[in-house]
Amino acid sequence: MSTTVLVLVDHEGARVHPTATELLTLARSLADDVRAVWIDEGPTGPDAAARELLGRFGASGVVPVQVTGADPHLTATVVDGLRAVLGAVPASLLLLGSTFEDREVAARLAVLTGGGVVTGATTVVRDGDGRFVAGKEVLAGSWSSRCAITGDLAVVTVKPHSTQAVPVDAPVAAVAAEPVVVEASAAARAVTVVERAPRPASDRPSLADAEVVVVGGRGTNGDFAPLEELADVLGGAVGATRVATDEGWIGHEAQVGQTGVTISPRLYVGAGVSGAVHHRGGMDAAVTVVAVNEDPDAPIFEFADYGIVGDLTEVVPALTQELRRRREARAGS
Ligand SMILES: Cc1cc2nc3c(=O)[nH]c(=O)nc-3n(C[C@H](O)[C@H](O)[C@H](O)COP(=O)(O)OP(=O)(O)OC[C@H]3O[C@@H](n4cnc5c(N)ncnc54)[C@H](O)[C@@H]3O)c2cc1C
Repeated sequence: MSTTVLVLVDHEGARVHPTATELLTLARSLADDVRAVWIDEGPTGPDAAARELLGRFGASGVVPVQVTGADPHLTATVVDGLRAVLGAVPASLLLLGSTFEDREVAARLAVLTGGGVVTGATTVVRDGDGRFVAGKEVLAGSWSSRCAITGDLAVVTVKPHSTQAVPVDAPVAAVAAEPVVVEASAAARAVTVVERAPRPASDRPSLADAEVVVVGGRGTNGDFAPLEELADVLGGAVGATRVATDEGWIGHEAQVGQTGVTISPRLYVGAGVSGAVHHRGGMDAAVTVVAVNEDPDAPIFEFADYGIVGDLTEVVPALTQELRRRREARAGS
């Protein structure tokens, strides 16, 4: 029996996010039948250019999905759409990206379908028994684990850059199937999106060249706004740990460390950053290191020049406010 793999396509309007091409490349190493699931406001699915792109990276078909009665960006809505697709297209594996939303979708879907879920995988292969086996790093990358999914449906979120996107030799435009139209569940309808706004473009210096870099880690819990304000007051760039970029809180180009950008600023401010060896490898040439961390035993304090033990959501805005005050006082004198 042939195996079907579904790939949830992350897209903004007609623009396909690059993770989709990575997932499609991975999917076609696991099955011949790869379908791209396209959830949108309307039932028409991707335009010709997007279908050509999806086909070029291995989608044999596209399943357009419209969930009526709820915002298509809500995780509950996406789950409704995927459940309907799984009813129409029996698949043994669903691949998603690894954003917050993707992981929430994966978990909800697995609970509702009884599927087996692995989040944050970096590899997916099939073992001799035909099971999907997902590999992931755990315990801050100090262990590698492999998880065989034994249920009928495997739901796996894959970290960005785990697979290099490679086009197929003979590209074709993925054929769009009949749209799946489904009514939103009560969970999806219970939420109204009041506003969505793109972030304004930044005129900060480039990370590699900046004299001041403000870096956020897991401790930011995804909110980089206070760090951006501090960076702007200092005329600096904003960087991040791998945890923060993998979470999708900030772009991968902001990653500082062994596998990211190497920086050598005059001032490095790390907030909610533990100071792991892989991160330190990219910033140990910084002249002055300031660390803000609520854990007094965090490794970053071992090499910081100045350490502030405290909650970054209080410390960072206070720093910004004081710097602004001093600057205004200087300008006024
Ligand atoms: C091969 C390999 C390559 C890697 N390459 C990189 C790389 O290039 N760059 C990189 O950064 N990492 C890299 N890593 C990952 C690295 O090992 C660490 O896992 C990562 O740097 C940890 O990120 P973090 O400090 O944000 O998270 P954590 O280690 O989880 O630390 C979060 C810190 O935030 C603090 N905190 C939490 N809440 C608050 C709060 N409200 N206020 C203040 N502090 C708070 C906690 O006390 C903790 O110290 C790599 C790993 C591997 C295996």
